[in-house]
Amino acid sequence: MLKIDMHTHIIPKIMPNWTEKFGYGKFINLVHNEDRSADMMQGGQFFRRIQENCWNDELRIGEYEQFNTQVQVVCTIPVMFSYWAKTEDCVELSQFLNDHIADLVAKHPKNYIGLATIPMQDTEAAIKELERAKTTGHVGIQIGSNINDENLSEERFFPIFEACERLGMALMVHPWQMMGFDSMKKYWLPWLVGMPAETSRAACSMIFGGVLERLPNLRVCFSHAGGSFLPTLGRIEHGFNCRPDLVAVDNSINPREYVGKFWVDCITHDIDALKYILKLQGSKRICLGSDYPFPLGDLEIGKFIEESDLSKETIEDIFSHSTLEWLDLKKEKFI
Ligand SMILES: [Zn+2]
Repeated sequence: MLKIDMHTHIIPKIMPNWTEKFGYGKFINLVHNEDRSADMMQGGQFFRRIQENCWNDELRIGEYEQFNTQVQVVCTIPVMFSYWAKTEDCVELSQFLNDHIADLVAKHPKNYIGLATIPMQDTEAAIKELERAKTTGHVGIQIGSNINDENLSEERFFPIFEACERLGMALMVHPWQMMGFDSMKKYWLPWLVGMPAETSRAACSMIFGGVLERLPNLRVCFSHAGGSFLPTLGRIEHGFNCRPDLVAVDNSINPREYVGKFWVDCITHDIDALKYILKLQGSKRICLGSDYPFPLGDLEIGKFIEESDLSKETIEDIFSHSTLEWLDLKKEKFI
């Protein structure tokens, strides 16, 4: 059975020292260690230690083959987005990352699919890089759940989504710069509490802001099974019904109407949670994702689904059909 893991992150092994090059900011720089790990430094400060599977394409293929996975959709690590930087610098950084992924996909067309990053802080520059990324083989983009704390419902982002629809570029929304980060650093709460809330924030913003209504052919996927959006849909819908004066100000359509129209990945670590999401979304709108190679991901790449009592058809939808439809790709390309 074809398995495509549509949620994985990659970074080039060698990058310029952006902070030195641009002369400001807290850009990410990699300092390689003797044991083949590397320290991600953020403007000179230690951010996180990563392993060789963050950049070594052959090593990655070997690792995911162990879990009967043939293809990875790759995108950058969200901390690389750098939406806070000057536009021209973010363009240069985005192009460097996008060209790295484009080269990787050209080298291993059966094993990798690429999603680009674009400078969301500047609408015109973002669309320009989106158009360029399409010509270099990217089939979509990954964006943050907020853009410098602005919600995705802001009108200035709409032309970017419109361009995605026009170009047939898929959109993956990934949580980052989590709300409440500074006030809840203990216990890894930004990742455990902030991330699911961020994704719900993005989904609510795109629905209530009318983005999904105005762009019915925009193919959007929300990370981590949609975060807390689907598990709290009852509350969200009730809020829409009881306080339309607050909620339905830009779109009068019930949020539940959009369920099953966007995609989510399956990263729940919990088969019962996945079954509930399946009930809402249907098997054609849930994609196999892992968040490889990070420890909070499902590094056994859907083993909990293989071991479940879900039907072969449902599993096949999750493992490849949903992702192929989200990215508008043909199965034959990978078999
Ligand atoms: Zn991720």
